[in-house]
Amino acid sequence: MPDDRLTAQQLFNCTDSLTYSDFLILPGYVDFTADQVDLTSALTKNITLKTPLVSSPMDTVTEAGMAIVMALTGGIGFTHYNCTSEFQANEVREVKKYEQGFIMDPVVLSPKDRVWDVFEAKAWHGFCGIPITDTGRMGSHLVGIISLKDIDFLKEEEHDRFLGAILMKREDLVVAPAGITLKEANEILQRSEKGKLPIVNEDDKLVAIIAQTDLKKNRDYPLASKDAKKQLLCGAAIGTHEDDKYQLDLLVQAGVDVMVLDSSQGNSVFQISMIKYIKEKYPSLQVIGGNVVTAAQAKNLTDAGVDALRVGMGSGSICITQEVLACGRPQSTAVYNVSEYARCFDVPVIADGGIQNVGHIAKALALGVSTVMMGSLLAVTTEAPGKFSSLMGSS
Ligand code: GDP
Ligand code: GDP
Repeated sequence: MPDDRLTAQQLFNCTDSLTYSDFLILPGYVDFTADQVDLTSALTKNITLKTPLVSSPMDTVTEAGMAIVMALTGGIGFTHYNCTSEFQANEVREVKKYEQGFIMDPVVLSPKDRVWDVFEAKAWHGFCGIPITDTGRMGSHLVGIISLKDIDFLKEEEHDRFLGAILMKREDLVVAPAGITLKEANEILQRSEKGKLPIVNEDDKLVAIIAQTDLKKNRDYPLASKDAKKQLLCGAAIGTHEDDKYQLDLLVQAGVDVMVLDSSQGNSVFQISMIKYIKEKYPSLQVIGGNVVTAAQAKNLTDAGVDALRVGMGSGSICITQEVLACGRPQSTAVYNVSEYARCFDVPVIADGGIQNVGHIAKALALGVSTVMMGSLLAVTTEAPGKFSSLMGSS
């Protein structure tokens, strides 16, 4: 039978300017079911995702809400930096706190704190299952635990009551010993049918807690992207200015897993020196360089030690680089050429921009990228920052 198909190499040898809409993938033969498809893919040299989708660091796309949902469903979100450094670090902290294994630094109160302190913690952090120790700090003797059911029905005038008088006492608590594995602790927590399991050392001092809610989150989101501590993975973007080094420190303190250096033209002395700076100061932090559209640009960043490359110039929905700087490249050609180059060095590639429909994701993956970054496709979702306002009914 004559083979009337074209390989990607043949296609891109014929032309140097294809966008996603300029070609289609020929159908093949299906001998599997959808649930047998494994989309596991590398985001960076050290981070693997079960869903090869990432949300763009745009102020209309990714803050904590989007990053949480992206990570729960197997992708990852990159928080934007069109805000103060502290704001961005807080977004990252919120993602990292959303789900946990052992919670090593839980909010703790003392018996002398009042009911209103618990309500304040709930308003501030969203939870109110709080262990009580004699000093109100970790590493002190466990005195009891306070839960919503202990305070929910109290009248407002009772909100000044001491927690010591209403907490569930130490002798009624199920606890687990320090050094236990998470799996064993989870089993004890499930058998106890309680919301929290305090972990104590041999002197009965509190060292951690685990939460039943996290077991549910783990069960409900089997694809979730998590670190070794079972916290969701989170990315963040910064620029390459001197000031951005302060922002980097705050993000690292908040627990960020991967940085993207945000520039439409990544092949610059500024980016190369920032990559080297980050790699020296935080060797285990993953760094994504970009954006690039040619192998020559990619070479400088791979030589500088990036853990992944972000590809796209002028193809994003709001990008004006091609109009203003007269630079860029049609996205399919850029993606194909950079992926061909980067795979020789085992550097994963992210296709960024120009994803107008779901089919474009499949095309980018087929051209050799490991993951696909989306902006406008996600900006319309409820998880994107900003409030939904309806024009209906407005006069
Ligand atoms: P997993 O089972 O594939 O998640 O990986 P591990 O073998 O490392 O898991 C050890 C234990 O941690 C298992 O009992 C998991 O069900 C449990 N686990 C996974 N994620 C979480 C989480 O976010 N919180 C808690 N408390 N346990 C988790
Ligand atoms: P609560 O019953 O109101 O305490 O809330 P849940 O137990 O249902 O949910 C608490 C969620 O917040 C879990 O996913 C925890 O991993 C997470 N979390 C993060 N930090 C803390 C903390 O300091 N204390 C508690 N109790 N939960 C925390």
